[in-house]
Amino acid sequence: MSENLLLFGPPGVGKGTQAARLSKVFGIPHVATGDMLRAAIQSYTPLGQRAKGFIDKGQLVPDELVLELLGERLQQPDTKTGFLLDGFPRTVPQAKVLDEMLTKYGKKLDRILVLDAPEEELVRRISGRRTCQACQATYHVDSNPPKASGVCDRCGAVLIQRSDDSEEIIRNRLREFGAKTKPVLDYFTAEKWPVRMIDANGNMDQIFGRIYAAVLLS
Ligand code: AMP
Repeated sequence: MSENLLLFGPPGVGKGTQAARLSKVFGIPHVATGDMLRAAIQSYTPLGQRAKGFIDKGQLVPDELVLELLGERLQQPDTKTGFLLDGFPRTVPQAKVLDEMLTKYGKKLDRILVLDAPEEELVRRISGRRTCQACQATYHVDSNPPKASGVCDRCGAVLIQRSDDSEEIIRNRLREFGAKTKPVLDYFTAEKWPVRMIDANGNMDQIFGRIYAAVLLS
């Protein structure tokens, strides 16, 4: 099934977790700008080095860096039969460029899935999050612990707490979301993009059920 989907919502709302599952169910690549930036940092690319300082402070990376990464990614052949965007766009200028890129590549978004949950729940989810350094799988120390403490179930690599998942940095990321990313939702609505609101309270299966229904039924 070919779907071009976009997951939108604040840090910690569970976009990454849900995206991994959606990508498997629909057989479409998960295109996450956060993962792409972290990969660029790990491989010491010039772009990664420029992005690192912003990420470590919980600030958004400048639009031109993210757009460079995304423009290349959306031209890869595996996105021909669908893709799942996660963490992009995060500013109104990014949304406008995405619109232009999609038109240029002859693509359109089928659904924008907007996830939301209360701020204290977001802080709880992010501060307990542990991430696999190798495959980027995510866990939560209370609600989704790995079978063996500190080890990824999927690939056996070590789990870490992301440097930007500390409470102080989380608050900055949430402030950035409110100031720069929330207005993107007004842009989607004004441009009549296919937005669906999803309640992201509850457990992973419940939230997945709501997203799945929103993709298939609306
Ligand atoms: P994420 O993994 O989506 O939580 O992203 C981690 C960090 O990467 C964010 O806090 C930003 O610093 C940066 N980032 C990811 N995607 C974007 C984007 N579309 N625009 C600007 N910065 C981004």
